[in-house]
Amino acid sequence: MSKILKEEKAIVVFSGGQDSTTCLFWALEQFKEVVLVTFDYGQRHIKEIECAKAIANELGLEHHILDMALLNQLAPNSLTRSDIEVDEAIPDGKTAPNSLVEGRNMLFLTFAAVLAKGKDIRHIVTGVCETDFSGYPDCRDVFIKSLNVTLNLAMDYNFVIHTPLMWLDKSQTWELADKLGVMDIVYNKTLTCYNGEMGEGCGHCPACHLRKRGYEQYMERKQCMK
Ligand code: ZN
Repeated sequence: MSKILKEEKAIVVFSGGQDSTTCLFWALEQFKEVVLVTFDYGQRHIKEIECAKAIANELGLEHHILDMALLNQLAPNSLTRSDIEVDEAIPDGKTAPNSLVEGRNMLFLTFAAVLAKGKDIRHIVTGVCETDFSGYPDCRDVFIKSLNVTLNLAMDYNFVIHTPLMWLDKSQTWELADKLGVMDIVYNKTLTCYNGEMGEGCGHCPACHLRKRGYEQYMERKQCMK
């Protein structure tokens, strides 16, 4: 990463989960200053936002929590409505899981960009990832590049969307956290589980499956490298 970025600020789209927390620490290494934005869209477990707040507080970072409750009005789904069960199957990459909120990342990144421009910030960091593609079309690299152009045109500004996890699988995301020296924080203080259990999680939702499998793969690889 160029030295120039060290003199600039970035905003990180931050959910308090494994991916965005890893991105947050990545951004702290790349940029002079990091601001966080979390979207509150009536998650099943308010704990996710509590995790995000706790991490932001601990690091002493400016943290904005934006109310996106309208997402729930637009697309009732298993992540926002407690009366809809979360799919327990591991995503097959073909069918979208019922945890999908259509266009969620597009909306989040767009709102993050509006907030960022108001603060004179042009770098936006998001933990979206194509490798573990689980049916979310707005996580794909081609979409992010397209949105970047659209945002620049929409606001006549030179945004740069950074996606440090785009081509990493979950085990490589753990590896990145390890390289950044934050494995423990990511392991213990983030919430990825759809059923709202911190750290190791419930062990049987799709998010827990991916997280656990990635962790084990990385630990195995690390053993072999010794
Ligand atoms: Zn879980």
